[in-house]
Amino acid sequence: MRIILLGPPGSGKGTQGALIEKKYGFPRISTGDLLRRAVQDGTPLGRRAEFQMREGQLVSDDIVIELIRERISSPECRRGYVLDGFPRNISQAEALENIDRDRYEIVLDIDLEAGIVMNRLEARRVCSQCGAIYNLEENAPKREGVCDSCGGSFGQREDDSPGVIRERLNVYRKNTEELKDYYSAKDVYFRVDGAESISIVFRQISSILDMELAKSQGSKAAE
Ligand code: AMP
Repeated sequence: MRIILLGPPGSGKGTQGALIEKKYGFPRISTGDLLRRAVQDGTPLGRRAEFQMREGQLVSDDIVIELIRERISSPECRRGYVLDGFPRNISQAEALENIDRDRYEIVLDIDLEAGIVMNRLEARRVCSQCGAIYNLEENAPKREGVCDSCGGSFGQREDDSPGVIRERLNVYRKNTEELKDYYSAKDVYFRVDGAESISIVFRQISSILDMELAKSQGSKAAE
């Protein structure tokens, strides 16, 4: 099973991806996290990606496709995986098809309007140690400034500033939104209302996943 999370920045892909990983055991792969780590470690790939990331632009397709190719060929992805932030345009979607053909696929589009995106991202905080995601309004940590999961400290992502958020939203509209039609045509597309609370969104997602998992097991048995 390949689960693709679509949705604008701040729609909850990271949070929901982590919940899916915990409940269903499919590892979450976030190209944003992989790129941020490469930038932090100062690798050659990180140095190539750094400028675009800071500006809210997409990094080049060859970089992210290589990251994904490496990750999804690893043994822990054999049963399936959740993609958060990939693909972000049609050519990445086509590359994914070629890398991992004939995988049962579903696309969950966590829909959210731009006004809510701005508020959410300004209130978002990310643990600098383990990457756990918080929101000061909806999902604050129990102790101020301390990560519930690992005790690390957290801060704001550099690209969660108002100017860069606007640019990321433009990039989403221009490049990523057309994936909705692409995946609708493949009949694997589901829309989820991202304005609901974390637990309600996850309930919607779980009921889609339970249904699709049963279908995918049925189709495997019929082979
Ligand atoms: P995210 O954490 O998904 O919001 O991604 C943060 C930044 O990483 C984006 O604004 C892009 O600069 C870069 N990025 C992440 N995933 C991709 C991708 N699939 N294609 C191109 N750039 C990406």
